[in-house]
Amino acid sequence: MNVHESEKIAGTLVSLGYVATDDINFADVIVFNTCCIRDSAEKKIYAKIGDVKGLKRLNELLIVCVVGCMTQQTGMSDTLKSKFPFIDIVLGTSNVHLLGEKIKEISSFYLKNRKKIYEITDSSTEIVNDFYELRTSYPNAWVNIMYGCNNYCTYCIVPFVRGRERSRSPQSILDEVKRLLDEGYKEITLLGQNVNSYFSDNWNFAKLLDAIGALSFKFRLRFMTSHPKDFSSEIVDIMTAHKSICNFIHLPVQAGSNNVLKAMGRQYTREKYLDLISMIRNKIPDCGITSDIMVGFPTESDEDFFETLELVKAVRFTNAFTFVYSPRTGTVAQKMLQIPANIKKERITKLIELQNQISQEKSYEYLNKTYEILVEGVKDNDLACGKTSNGRLVNFKCGESKIGDFLNIHVDKVKASALWGHIENGRE
Ligand code: SF4
Repeated sequence: MNVHESEKIAGTLVSLGYVATDDINFADVIVFNTCCIRDSAEKKIYAKIGDVKGLKRLNELLIVCVVGCMTQQTGMSDTLKSKFPFIDIVLGTSNVHLLGEKIKEISSFYLKNRKKIYEITDSSTEIVNDFYELRTSYPNAWVNIMYGCNNYCTYCIVPFVRGRERSRSPQSILDEVKRLLDEGYKEITLLGQNVNSYFSDNWNFAKLLDAIGALSFKFRLRFMTSHPKDFSSEIVDIMTAHKSICNFIHLPVQAGSNNVLKAMGRQYTREKYLDLISMIRNKIPDCGITSDIMVGFPTESDEDFFETLELVKAVRFTNAFTFVYSPRTGTVAQKMLQIPANIKKERITKLIELQNQISQEKSYEYLNKTYEILVEGVKDNDLACGKTSNGRLVNFKCGESKIGDFLNIHVDKVKASALWGHIENGRE
């Protein structure tokens, strides 16, 4: 989601006549697109903003901007002002569409009259559709279908910094997707904090997925993120009805114990999650399922953690984003009794080992089979890579193939958990 927001920011700058540079020393405008979802990302961004102070001394005309969800936290605007007085523009998540206007505004003043712009409004109900985007992820194009979240999981800061859910109109999404496919994009990924609760003009997510999946182009359709409490068999039925929709679901479980799920406010149980997995596998046996799993949430006992490991063994995710809980200011979980760091470390190590072993074992299921892949990367040394519909990356000798081609690849080798194959025949 942040990558796509950066594409919108880059597009804004290009529309003002700026060009991208790889060398920060030559920049006229620097925009930090921040994220506060994890504590580690926030710490890193402070260091990076601090690094720019010297550049500002060398070039007083340099415009330094900070945007993104970190700016939206209570008191952050004052913190940025006092820690980094050289910042020129700070915009909240609801104001980022004003970036171009604000850059024009301050660059039109002589230096001595230049003012600082800090505009953070509370969570917005507004949706801005007409961003000019500088897309960098061909053959994939990200498409936001909704913004914000209504769930208030007790560890998460998103609803506070990104506001309540608001869905784009189905027509504006369909128009954007058709335009992207006309422009030659081969994969569309629909984005939202919880795409399953999409609702606009009496369209739910299943109806939207159905309409996009039916578009008569050769393309792939993915979506993320799904929330288990809202994920339905109707969505899986739509997935099976359209070839364009990939056999892939990212379904964050977060924890395998009902005690922890309840304390997290996730609004589903271990049993409901396992039922969803059975339903998906019954309807789409080769569906790639990935997850987010957190360890060390306050209240997580040894038994609770054991249940998480057991759930991972039962589901056998293709892959999982595993991480250690870190408290976020203003959340309910921050005020709960915290688990010691050494216990968190032990648990994450065990979880990663288990998931790595499963991912490796699952890799062998691909051996000696042929898959259609979409070429996503080509390297100088005749190597290319692309994903199967169910989300596994395959490496192969690229020959004449180029990014955006659909190819049939026969998997003939598994190294560690990476898949290697060769082209059987190609089709664009
Ligand atoms: S569903 Fe929960 S974890 Fe996901 S963004 Fe919303 S509050 Fe955060």
